[in-house]
Amino acid sequence: MVCWYRHLFAFIGLCGLSPLASQPVTPFELDSNYSATYREVIDYYLALDPTSSQMQMHPFGMTDSGHPLHEIVLSANGIFDPVTAKKEGKLIFLINNGIHAGEPCGVDATMMLVRDLIRHQIDPSLWKDVVMVIIPFYNIGGALNRDAYSRANQAGPREHGFRGNARNLDLNRDFIKSDSKNAQSFQQLFTKWDPDVFLDNHTTDGADYPYIMTLVESQKDKATPPLGDYMRNSFFPEIYRRLTASGFPAVPYVNVRNTPDEGIFAFFESPRFGSGYAALHHTLAMISEAHMLKPFAQRVRGTYSLEMHLLEILSEQRERILALRLEAKENARNQKDFPVAWKLDFTQKDSILFSGYSAAYRTSAISGKDRLYYDKTKPYRKFIPFYNTYVPTAVVTRPLAYVIPQAYDGIIDRLSWNGVRMRRLTSDSTLMLEMYTINDYDSPPNPYEGHFLHSGVTVEKQIRSWTYHQGDYWIPTDQPEVRFIMETLEPQATDSYFAWNFFDAILGQKEYFSSYVFEDTAAELLRENPALAATLKKMKEEDADFAANPRAQLNYIYQHSPYYEKTYRLYPVGRVISN
Ligand SMILES: [Zn+2]
Repeated sequence: MVCWYRHLFAFIGLCGLSPLASQPVTPFELDSNYSATYREVIDYYLALDPTSSQMQMHPFGMTDSGHPLHEIVLSANGIFDPVTAKKEGKLIFLINNGIHAGEPCGVDATMMLVRDLIRHQIDPSLWKDVVMVIIPFYNIGGALNRDAYSRANQAGPREHGFRGNARNLDLNRDFIKSDSKNAQSFQQLFTKWDPDVFLDNHTTDGADYPYIMTLVESQKDKATPPLGDYMRNSFFPEIYRRLTASGFPAVPYVNVRNTPDEGIFAFFESPRFGSGYAALHHTLAMISEAHMLKPFAQRVRGTYSLEMHLLEILSEQRERILALRLEAKENARNQKDFPVAWKLDFTQKDSILFSGYSAAYRTSAISGKDRLYYDKTKPYRKFIPFYNTYVPTAVVTRPLAYVIPQAYDGIIDRLSWNGVRMRRLTSDSTLMLEMYTINDYDSPPNPYEGHFLHSGVTVEKQIRSWTYHQGDYWIPTDQPEVRFIMETLEPQATDSYFAWNFFDAILGQKEYFSSYVFEDTAAELLRENPALAATLKKMKEEDADFAANPRAQLNYIYQHSPYYEKTYRLYPVGRVISN
């Protein structure tokens, strides 16, 4: 490990600039295969912080590691609060680094960028109307769990952190369930700033190809209109163009089934991922993925270049982006039907010009079977399919409001961290509203990110009279956060709180009956209800198993009697559909 403190105020000249202006240097600049440790990162920024009227750094909330999250704010005009920044028409640009601590390109790149901005190595007019908010190291627990091995396929740096955080959670799956304190702090920071643009810095896994930089674009079809058209036709093409022109060729994230020749499949960034989460808040977002097989130095420089070009583009297009976001928020407020689940449409494809290495196969020294390799002596440049159209698989009509029992305080916390406006009922209220019964769902046999994430959820909707109590929460949908509300509270949504197990207790029946006692009650019920008796008779005639199963017959009668518990599988969040 390099002891870089000795070099902190070393006399070092970069690119012919004044050496004093370029201090301090980052550990990466002293050793291009080295990434700063968590402590080095914070100490570096502390060394910068007191020297500038254009930068502030504060602890912001806690992380699971026991160390606080840090928030760095950069402003050419010394504006460090979101209210003033918004009032003065500044664009807010949020950068997150080290969410996967083994992929630290953004950590080191941003350290250089911050110094170069506040030490005037970069023209101040470039960022005079952009306020940058930076998380210097998000996954601190992962950063502290440092070794040389956890990224088996990655070309450096020689030491790096681990993907999981202090609780072994993947923070880039935690943006909705927010199990980690990291995510809880992040959401409050996100809400505080309401960023216009969000960049989350990563390193790829997967195929080999010549590009240094790739981007997971926030999905155009999932974005609130008109943001999707702008991202597809203007924003992202301009980013790729500038990166390629400055020596960092770039394409959309190369998400493939086997090899790139067969086509690239747009990544499904549901809201559990950073860019999908940002989309719920109508924020333009992307995940940078620097190519794992390129030397660390190229990846860091490529990420730096991306951040610089984003600053340029955001400065040039600031007014347009701010106007588009306002329009998106207004559109969301007026939207009637909301898609809450999506799938890639394989019948629709674009074509993109792609530079690749030919895929080939040779005999594996391990298995003796064919193994894939990329032949760098056979580069190609050709059009390949790009599957980039997502279509809704569940669409839900917006209610006027949702009502949530106060018992679900974990959900109330999460909604409030995300800036959702709500009020509490001032008295017990019996309301006529829509409620769901959960019909069916699938759960995996093994836990995923600490949960048994449900999918394939189907519901039955009924109008009911239901009593909510003083202190329960009323959540109007006439607010900019309507997408966040609907994609978390509608059970069928891919990353709903139901899917993430917040409501699993409703899936267990609490009361049953003893057959020998219920026999007499059941007979009485059938006498009083000839229709039920007729149905039972028909079922016995048509289903031999049912006819041979006394308990099943009693249970059928029980389920159609007043004794059956009315809260079993009843989703307790009510949908208010009329005044
Ligand atoms: Zn990653």
